[in-house]
Amino acid sequence: MPHPQAPARWRGIARRVPGQATSDGAGVRLTRSLGSRALLQLDPFLLLDEFRNDDPQAYIAGFPPHPHRGFETVTYMLAGHMRHEDSMGNTGHLGPGAVQWMSAASGIIHSEMPEQEDGLLWGFQLWVNLPAAEKMAAPRYQDIPAEGIPEGVDEAGVRLRVIAGRSEIGGRPLRGPVQPRASQPLYLDISLPAGTAFEQQLPAAHNALVYPVEGAPLIAGEALAEKTLAVLGEGDALRIAAGDAAARALLIAGQPLGEPISRYGPFVMNSHEEIQRALDDYRRGELVQARG
Ligand code: FE
Repeated sequence: MPHPQAPARWRGIARRVPGQATSDGAGVRLTRSLGSRALLQLDPFLLLDEFRNDDPQAYIAGFPPHPHRGFETVTYMLAGHMRHEDSMGNTGHLGPGAVQWMSAASGIIHSEMPEQEDGLLWGFQLWVNLPAAEKMAAPRYQDIPAEGIPEGVDEAGVRLRVIAGRSEIGGRPLRGPVQPRASQPLYLDISLPAGTAFEQQLPAAHNALVYPVEGAPLIAGEALAEKTLAVLGEGDALRIAAGDAAARALLIAGQPLGEPISRYGPFVMNSHEEIQRALDDYRRGELVQARG
């Protein structure tokens, strides 16, 4: 006998955060939703940027060498190509559908440069916080090619890609390739043909957000406008649907760390003193080696 299941408490939209047009790196134009003045963070998430340009002038200068300490950066490419190089001698290439999940931890200096001179460059960067106990650990990363992301389609044509965490589509369980971590991230890319829906269990304690990729996905019957992030309200499941037109969205959720956050540019620590040390280490050229 299956266990009787309590009816799902569907999460609705608790807050809408319109993305702000801004630029970062050496002048890459992007839309920042999380991490802007409107919403500085949604524990454990610190930032969400969308870059989507077919004008090379808006992306070609890329993100030349810059530091990070104390958190993780997650790059998900939808179109175009990026090349990354870091202070540990790693290099990699991200093509359409690929993901880089980089734990900067104690410190990394890297560059993220478009590897194309024209055409569409489209992707997302998410920042995920690390708990205090892991902020000064050794950096590490996973480069996951498009074919390394589990994907499934149900009979209605709903297409799911699971970057992190566990989900299910058409009765088939899928598990993302991102290694387990304290923030227990779930990162899904959900494509919905017109008139279809998708349901996902979400632990009640986890913070969750939805960002529209295409169209106007419906959450609890409410349409989400383009470039507008939805912070989800209380509940233990999400039902996301497409109305008369197809829609596509990212669903990102995780366990809040519940720790103090001190943040300055590319450094995210627990206290002002730790930020000061990061700045000192960087100025002395010791950001990358410093640990503990
Ligand atoms: Fe970076």
